[in-house]
Amino acid sequence: MKTSIYNLDRVEKLRSSLKIDPHQIKNVYNQYFKKSETLSTISKNNSGNYTLSSFINSLNWQTLELTQAASSEQDGATKLLFKTTDNHYIEAVILRIKTGRTTLCISSQIGCAMNCQFCATGHMGFTRNLTRQEILDQVTIANQYLKPEKRHIRNIVFMGMGEPLNNPGEVYKAIETLTNPKYFNLSIQHICISTVGIIPELNTLMTNFPKIKLAISLHSAREEVRSRIVPISKTYNLKALQTTLLELTKNYETENNYIFLEYLMIDGITDTDADIDALKNWCAPLPIHLNVIKYNPAPEEKKLKPSSNKQIEYFINQLKPHIATITRRYSLGSDITAACGQLASKTKKG
Ligand code: SF4
Repeated sequence: MKTSIYNLDRVEKLRSSLKIDPHQIKNVYNQYFKKSETLSTISKNNSGNYTLSSFINSLNWQTLELTQAASSEQDGATKLLFKTTDNHYIEAVILRIKTGRTTLCISSQIGCAMNCQFCATGHMGFTRNLTRQEILDQVTIANQYLKPEKRHIRNIVFMGMGEPLNNPGEVYKAIETLTNPKYFNLSIQHICISTVGIIPELNTLMTNFPKIKLAISLHSAREEVRSRIVPISKTYNLKALQTTLLELTKNYETENNYIFLEYLMIDGITDTDADIDALKNWCAPLPIHLNVIKYNPAPEEKKLKPSSNKQIEYFINQLKPHIATITRRYSLGSDITAACGQLASKTKKG
C-alpha cells in the first residue's frame, strides 16, 4: 500500500532513502497544498527529475474521486459529490460568501447515527467514519476546483454529513493537518466544529484546540421538544449541556469567548412563545452568539415546515434584548439541496 502524504514520518523516511533535498519536497507540497495544483500537473512539472518523480509516484495523494459538482443558480454555493474507494458517496459544499471569503462545509462521516429529525443525513443512518485523508481530500479537491476562479478555501466548517465528535480520532488528526504550515496552514480560528453536544468529547476538543470555533446545534431549549428532534438530548440533556458550556467558556478561548448556537426555525415546533422563553432562560448565563436559520426541508420531507419570515423576525426581536449576539443566518444552496440539514447522498453504491 502506498504511503499517505499525511504520514510525515514515513514520507520523511522515503525522502531520506531517495536522498532528495528537503526543499524539493517542500516545493512539491507547496504546489499541491498552497497552489492547488493537481497531481497530474505536479507530475508533469517534475517529469525530468527521475528521483522526485519516483517519490511523487510512491505516495497516496488522494483517495476520494470528485464525481459531480452542482452550482446554485441563486447564490454562491457549489455542492461537490465524492466517491470513496469502497463506493460510498459523501458531499461537501463550497460557500462563496459575499464578503469574498470562501468557506468549505465538509463531512466527517458517511451517514450519521444521531437521527436528528430535520436532517436528511440523519435519515440515512450510519455507515462508517471517514479517515483523516478522506476528510482532507474534500479540501484539496475543492481547492483544485476553485483554482480557475483564483479562490482558495480559508474557512472550514464541520457541518456536512456526520457528527464530528463521534469521529474524534480522525477529525482531530485532520484539524492538526489543516493548521500545519507544511500542509494547509489554516488558522485554527477559521475552523468551526458543529456538534449536537457530545458532552464527554467537548472537553477533549477544547483542550486540544482551545481557539477553535465551537457551534452547538441546539434547535430547541425545551427538553421535550429537543429530545424529539435531536434525540441525543435524551442522553446529554439541556441542563448538562448548559453546565458543560459554562465551564468551557470559563476555561477556554473561544472566539470572543462566544459559543455559537445554531437554531433552526421549524413552524409550530421551535418558533413559539414558549421557545422564546425557554431560550431566554437557557442562554442567560452563557456568552452566546445565536444563529437563527430558516429550516430547509429536504424534498422528501413531509412533516416539518419552515417558519414564516414574519415569525422569524418576531422571534429575533423578542430575543434581542436578552442574548449577547443574535443574527439571522441565511443558508446557501437550498436549490441544490446543499443548505443546512439537506445534505444526504442519494447515490447508491455501485
Ligand atoms: S444534524 Fe448533524 S448530528 Fe444530526 S443527524 Fe444531521 S449530521 Fe447527524
